[in-house]
Amino acid sequence: MEKIQFKAESKKLLDLMINSIYTNKEIFLRELLSNANDAVDKLHFKSLTDTKIKSDFSIKIEVDKENRKLKIIDSGIGMTRNELENNLGTIAKSGSYDFKEQNEKSENNIIGQFGVGFYSAFMVSKEVEVLTKSYEEDKAYLWKSKGTDGFTIEETTKENIGTTVILTLKEDTENENYSEFLEQYKIISLIKKYSDYLSYPIKMECEHHKPKEKEEGKEQEYETYKTIDTINSITPIWNKNKNELKQEEINDFYKEKFRDFQDPAKVIFYKTEGAATFSSILFIPSATPFNYYTKEFKKDLQLYSHGVLIMENCSDLLPDYFGFVKGMVDSKDLSLNISREILQKTHQLQIISKNLTKKVKNELLNWLKNDRNAYEEFFKNFGISLKYGVYQQYGMHKEDLKDLLIFKSSFEEKYVTLKEYLSRMKEDQKDIYYATGESYEKIKNMPQTEFIKDKGFEILYFINEVDEFAIKMLNEYEGKKFQNITSKEVDIESEEEKSKTKEEEKKHENMFKIMKEALKDKVLDVTISNKLKNSAVCLSTAGEISIEMEKVLNAIPNSQKVQSQKILEINKNHKIFKKLCDLEQNNKEKLKEYANILYTCAALMEGISPENPVNFLEEISNAISN
Ligand code: ADP
Repeated sequence: MEKIQFKAESKKLLDLMINSIYTNKEIFLRELLSNANDAVDKLHFKSLTDTKIKSDFSIKIEVDKENRKLKIIDSGIGMTRNELENNLGTIAKSGSYDFKEQNEKSENNIIGQFGVGFYSAFMVSKEVEVLTKSYEEDKAYLWKSKGTDGFTIEETTKENIGTTVILTLKEDTENENYSEFLEQYKIISLIKKYSDYLSYPIKMECEHHKPKEKEEGKEQEYETYKTIDTINSITPIWNKNKNELKQEEINDFYKEKFRDFQDPAKVIFYKTEGAATFSSILFIPSATPFNYYTKEFKKDLQLYSHGVLIMENCSDLLPDYFGFVKGMVDSKDLSLNISREILQKTHQLQIISKNLTKKVKNELLNWLKNDRNAYEEFFKNFGISLKYGVYQQYGMHKEDLKDLLIFKSSFEEKYVTLKEYLSRMKEDQKDIYYATGESYEKIKNMPQTEFIKDKGFEILYFINEVDEFAIKMLNEYEGKKFQNITSKEVDIESEEEKSKTKEEEKKHENMFKIMKEALKDKVLDVTISNKLKNSAVCLSTAGEISIEMEKVLNAIPNSQKVQSQKILEINKNHKIFKKLCDLEQNNKEKLKEYANILYTCAALMEGISPENPVNFLEEISNAISN
């Protein structure tokens, strides 16, 4: 029999497939089942106008373990002799791809680059046979190939229209377990993973076990029986009518597909047609995945084309700040055989991503509006992600995200949106105030909050490292600036109070000079405070970097160290102020000692420990005993 050679470039790729070390060999089944599904679909389409066509429009899988054979049988359109030769003789045919150009690249790249299609069968088979009968011809043909040395085609007989692909699996090796592809559990799991939503039923004879009636004192015995089962779910949940689905069904689907043991906190169905045509189902988990805030985390977004999984962790579908969203997106605009690299550059994917991002944002806004408690729970899990989103990429997405942010505040210690904050701002309040700290408890006790609270101004409480960075990136909200309560810039005193302070400062100019001199490496200035009511002293900062920011930035390994510009503020109504004034008159040395002690105390309140605690103790002991 005549042996027909593969076309040159096909031969090279085939060689690669046969000797493949490609880690994803299992995709061969997806490829063959997709071909089968297409073939059935084509015949189904013909049958709509040609009533003579008879078919059950299905796909079957048969296993012959003894002979290591796996059969994929479709009742599809079949192939004529010509089609056989053309379709299964040239690999590069399907695309405008130039194989030579990519020859230098790694194997994974080449396999990824091509629609591997039918030829992927050679990754797992020592021989591939294709028995086919076209709906256009009475004759049937058998195509056979063991790999690179070509293929044969012979005439044969076949009862039904359609194609049967018969793989003879390779022998197992130390590293590869090909026999696995003959096991029922493996085949089912591959179909569920890649081909669950093909539009025609994939049937297979499956073995089941059921317990026999137990006899007293004997071990439980099982009865084995076989049934022909349809393995695939066929209609994807995202194509079903939402109103016909039970919540429980959706929850079960989510838990099974995303291996979560909790129900999702939110489910979003989204279909669109137009610039991008796709349907999707998205989920927001009820808890933060343990690795969510680590580099290991991969977005759980699956991309489908015509119901066939083409990418498992398609991170480009949503921006990182919505990385917590899991789900499936199915688009008819994408070809099944598109590679990762090409996909990322695809305009279509960008449009899909833009649509999805907008949808998720709107859903979150609605959630915030209509179910506050649930949204707050969500925010506890993933709020940090949104705040990073505000901060990252030079604030490119801040406008989209600012209304999704909520913070606890001094107002009943409940979560508040920026809009709500603004709506209840006092008339004489200039800025939006925030305070940073390790915990709500610590922030509440900060001396700098005293006067602001007294005025009835609300303070946002920031306890996450990213908070202040995000807010600095926002800079303002609807024209109102954000102001750290520890900033020198805080402007809450009345004009009268201000001029009184100025007067006092002038009066005690010399005292502040001495104190400043004593603290010259530590502070930029020593002044009368505009924030304190009861406490003696506090620290404030001038410039952009707050004390919290200094801590965060300096904790980054190998980072350039930054320093905030600190100011020691003293409460002019506190008895210590009078004491300091006395010392300025009578004991300037002691005034310096006091300056140091007061600074260290103010720093302690900000969570900065003294560089030398032993010295600090010494200073205090001296001060008290003399
Ligand atoms: P692709 O599916 O990307 O075109 P393949 O190498 O998988 O690439 O298949 C090449 C062609 O062979 C298909 O386009 C189709 O025309 C034909 N073919 C493959 N499998 C079948 C089948 N089961 N029934 C009918 N035609 C098939």
